[in-house]
Amino acid sequence: MDDGRVLIVGASHASAQLCASLRQEGWSGEILLVGDEPSLPYQRPPLSKTFLAGTSTLDELLIRKPEFYGKQEVTFRQARVTAITRSARTVELADGGALTYDHLVLCLGARPRRLSLPGSDLAGVHYLRDAADIGGIRDGLTPSSHVVIIGAGYIGLETAACLRDLGATVSVLEAADRVLQRVTAPEVSAFYDRVHREAGVDLRLGVGVAAIEGDDHVEGVRLADGDLIAADMVIVGIGVVPNVELADEAGVAVDDGIVIDGHGRTNDPHIFAAGDCATFLDRRYGRQIRLESVPNAVEHAKTVAATICGKDKEIAALPWFWSDQFDLKLQIAGLNTGFDEIVLRGDPAAGRGFACFYFNGGQLIAADCVNRPQEFAFAKRALTQGLSPNRDLLADPDTVLLSLLTAAPVTAG
Ligand SMILES: Cc1cc2nc3c(=O)[nH]c(=O)nc-3n(C[C@H](O)[C@H](O)[C@H](O)COP(=O)(O)OP(=O)(O)OC[C@H]3O[C@@H](n4cnc5c(N)ncnc54)[C@H](O)[C@@H]3O)c2cc1C
Repeated sequence: MDDGRVLIVGASHASAQLCASLRQEGWSGEILLVGDEPSLPYQRPPLSKTFLAGTSTLDELLIRKPEFYGKQEVTFRQARVTAITRSARTVELADGGALTYDHLVLCLGARPRRLSLPGSDLAGVHYLRDAADIGGIRDGLTPSSHVVIIGAGYIGLETAACLRDLGATVSVLEAADRVLQRVTAPEVSAFYDRVHREAGVDLRLGVGVAAIEGDDHVEGVRLADGDLIAADMVIVGIGVVPNVELADEAGVAVDDGIVIDGHGRTNDPHIFAAGDCATFLDRRYGRQIRLESVPNAVEHAKTVAATICGKDKEIAALPWFWSDQFDLKLQIAGLNTGFDEIVLRGDPAAGRGFACFYFNGGQLIAADCVNRPQEFAFAKRALTQGLSPNRDLLADPDTVLLSLLTAAPVTAG
């Protein structure tokens, strides 16, 4: 199929998949990938893990090697897109150029939410979204560094774990009264609280930050109660904001994300969006959602590629996510929003592995599995099939999980 040019904006997880999927679906027209970072698309998850630790290089993180783009006849151009003119089907570039498109796919990702406190602009205050951010952090790290991390979400905790492993002194400040409050059950939060404290992380919960102090460079973080924590580096991990301005200013519908339908289309038939920047009505959960995960970006990209090639595919994959901290691999299947009951398999209060299954009205909706790949595989299958296993059997470590998949769906616990 050749219907002119697909212009992809953002060298991202979604766009790397899109390039491959467009060719797989039969697109023989031009593919032009424009991104404002100097690199071809690379994996972001290792940024707070192996790349920060210095055990992987940017080349190793490339999602696809440069030869792939050559072979698939994808042209990459480093440029920032500053405006879309829908009537002319063109985009403007920051370098003064302009590009036309037949199909435009916005893979713009998200950016870190900024801190707006006195001292936020001091040298030594870092965010964590791209490879350049990690360069800045690594350059500033010394064996005696005291790093204060603001925010105990996944990125904050992964960074804390990595920096502790590197020998830094680490404090984590969190406004909520438990870590990972937005995303997990209290039992899972308590587990991560324990393992971080056991590793020597100075975890402070329910604290407000009043200011970052220092002359030119960070010297400490002043808490709302007046306490001062000495620090020579601050890393802010307080969530992200989707990059929607480009779409919004062009009149493409936006609502905490660029609004797409189940086929990846925006309200302009020539414009699509994928990944962290896109929000869509998820059929499984029956509500509008915007996810920040690699599997989500990949699923969106596959769907957009199929749609551009005239195929009928909908965004349907079960959401899943992972987080690596210390020796712990957390794998998450589904979305736990609205859970009213949990079932634990294994003991989060001791040891380093367990699974937490989330239910709503007797229906299994999600699972967090720490060092439990079998439970994760089970949860993915059960959720995909819409099964709700018997809760007592699920909690019993002697139950063979596979037997719960073959049994007829049982919702009573
Ligand atoms: C430190 C870190 C750890 C993470 N860990 C995990 C994890 O363990 N598991 C997981 O599933 N997910 C993880 N994520 C999330 C995951 O990386 C994102 O969900 C994923 O990268 C989203 O991909 P995307 O395609 O939406 O866009 P992104 O990969 O964010 O890329 C968007 C690109 O578009 C560019 N861009 C934006 N605007 C313009 C413009 N106007 N012109 C040109 N280019 C533009 C941006 O600079 C960027 O290069 C992590 C993210 C970070 C930052």
